[in-house]
Amino acid sequence: MSRFLSERLQSLKAYVPGEQPKVRNLIKLNTNESPFPPAPGVKEAVAAAADSLQLYNDLAAAKLTRLLAETYGLHENQITVSNGSDEILAFAFQAFGGNGLAFPDITYGFYPVWAALFGLDAKIIPLDADFNVNAADYKGNDRCVVIANPNAPTGKALPLSALRNIAEKNPDQAVIVDEAYVDFGGESALALVPEFDNVLVVRTFSKSRQLAGGRLGFAMGNAALIDDLNRVRFSFHPYNVNTLTQAAGAAALEQPEYFEACRQAIAETRAWTVEQLKDLGFRVLDSKANFVFASAPGMGGGEYQKALRERNILVRYFDLPRTRGFTRISIGTKEQMAALIQATREILT
Ligand SMILES: *Cc1c(COP(=O)(O)O)cnc(C)c1O
Repeated sequence: MSRFLSERLQSLKAYVPGEQPKVRNLIKLNTNESPFPPAPGVKEAVAAAADSLQLYNDLAAAKLTRLLAETYGLHENQITVSNGSDEILAFAFQAFGGNGLAFPDITYGFYPVWAALFGLDAKIIPLDADFNVNAADYKGNDRCVVIANPNAPTGKALPLSALRNIAEKNPDQAVIVDEAYVDFGGESALALVPEFDNVLVVRTFSKSRQLAGGRLGFAMGNAALIDDLNRVRFSFHPYNVNTLTQAAGAAALEQPEYFEACRQAIAETRAWTVEQLKDLGFRVLDSKANFVFASAPGMGGGEYQKALRERNILVRYFDLPRTRGFTRISIGTKEQMAALIQATREILT
């Protein structure tokens, strides 16, 4: 820390992302990326877009936004795109968190960091004993609600009825639904957008569309909510989604069959992995995401993570009171998961 750091940032604890090692032969199951390559056509679209890199990128991201509108059955003014969904979430916290925020104790670790960075008060609402979000806990709340659905790192999902309930019971607050993992089996709050002016759905191309390194996210909601987000964006960084990423995102959306095939492969491999882990005596939470949150028999989450690391397999561990017994394992290819199960057998014997 230098002598110059603003006082209000001196106690800020930054978010710690999962390891991104450059070592070969590692099986990387720690940051919920897709194990599959970008969609066919993405590389060519990026190469073609590079021809105009001397120019600023399209502020409206017109093609990408039009394709998103078609894909999700919305009007273009109900969508805005961002440099990863982390950015749009940060904009939303600033736009709608003025009266404070409410989110679960166990959820995406970035929420408390943004709250602290922007000086917003955070009310932490514990998940129940089985790691469920209890919609009734958010009733008549006086602040912006943030729900990751499916939740991270538990993988558990709320049904649409519960999200509707939260939206209904908080008519004067924005309800941000972070759907980073919804493509893997959750129910989307998108169905609420035509009916509720307070529901903002946030999505990313990082987990289910093979573009984590491209940094592309988007938000969908009532046109006035989207306007508010653009107000923050135009007060910070209007050119937030670069030319190459816009081209990559549009090309990915033009391959719906590839998207389907990838998410089906993940769902199948997840089912197989859960079965194998349960056979080995693990407790595995019911996951609707591209990862599982699992507790190894007779072993802490950190201990299991370390043992896997020694066998060149990376997974994620959250050293907090309620999550210490668990390890979060991203769903990779079938081969990667077979290697994880094999290594786990060795560790347990
Ligand atoms: C990965 C993740 C994000 C961020 O995704 P990016 O689009 O890569 O910034 C947001 N929310 C949750 C819950 C995530 O797990």
